[in-house]
Amino acid sequence: MNRTNKVLLIYTGGTIGMGCDPRTGALEPLDFNHLAKNVPEFEQIQPDIDTFQFVPAIDSSDITPARWGEIVKLITKRYYNYDGFVILHGTDTMAYTASALSFMFENLTKPIILTGSQLPIGQLRTDGKENLMTSIELAAAYHSDGRPMVPEVCVYFNGHLLRGNRSTKQNAEEFNAFDSFNYPHLCEAGVNFTFKEHNIMQPDYKRPMVPHTKLDSNVTVFSLFPGVEERIARHILEAPGLRGIVMRTYGSGNAPQSSWLTRLLKEASENGAVVVNVSQCISGKVEMNRYGAGYQLKDSGIVSGYDSTVEAAVTKLMYLQAQFNDPNLIRKHMNRSIAGEITIDEF
Ligand code: ASP
Repeated sequence: MNRTNKVLLIYTGGTIGMGCDPRTGALEPLDFNHLAKNVPEFEQIQPDIDTFQFVPAIDSSDITPARWGEIVKLITKRYYNYDGFVILHGTDTMAYTASALSFMFENLTKPIILTGSQLPIGQLRTDGKENLMTSIELAAAYHSDGRPMVPEVCVYFNGHLLRGNRSTKQNAEEFNAFDSFNYPHLCEAGVNFTFKEHNIMQPDYKRPMVPHTKLDSNVTVFSLFPGVEERIARHILEAPGLRGIVMRTYGSGNAPQSSWLTRLLKEASENGAVVVNVSQCISGKVEMNRYGAGYQLKDSGIVSGYDSTVEAAVTKLMYLQAQFNDPNLIRKHMNRSIAGEITIDEF
């Protein structure tokens, strides 16, 4: 592997680069010059940084699958010119972007680190500087034999490096905005970096990275709650063109045993939609064998989401739907880990 000692910084927007609109007092994304003005340290840091910015910069609520495709194209074009990539992104949808990118870069052999901040970089108490500087260092961190320390799509925030497709935004206020509840951290960044090497994925360095730019977003998230009405559930589950449903169930993957729900789910599956069972719990996994209220779902053709986050399940469906027409093939791949997003117990 040829080292370049260079990192590409991609600025998409988010709080880190925002300033107050004098008219409304609300935070709005500003261009990269505003951010760079507040980080004189750019001049001093190693490695060298090149930058690319979204024009205009966006609040991450406005991110789309098409934008994810653009990011994949951008990185692919410059893949061999950089040791790693840092993406500055709003926190609101960062876990979705990180999950999507983890599937779209097959056999990723370089670090892609997403970060942002809770306070704009222009404010005195900003968390943006530390998040940014540490992410750049992590993107450029290599073993002495030339392999990158973290050849994964990651989220870095507040001292923790997380697998991107395991991360979730957990707090809208504290600096500790992200965690990965079902997977250990990849590195702790304190005074020193402590890499947890056994948690970090290793690609096949003899094979090239394979980019995928297409996603199919005919997907929905259907969350259960006591009192869910048949008429409304039918409207959602029978939406024309719908190919993937992430059903947010209770506990270890349980749902009410009402015959209309079982029938609706069975019909959706028979009509070619892939229904994935993901728990509403923030941690733990789906086990449909555990209770009768989960077991019946297996008979309705539903696949387990294991210990997936909603963000990973939604984007995995988008990725697989763009790859395959056959719902059975999609179901088969939902039962496998593509980029470390689920834990499959080996027996
Ligand atoms: N609304 C902002 C965004 O996601 C929040 C943030 O960056 O923290 O773009």
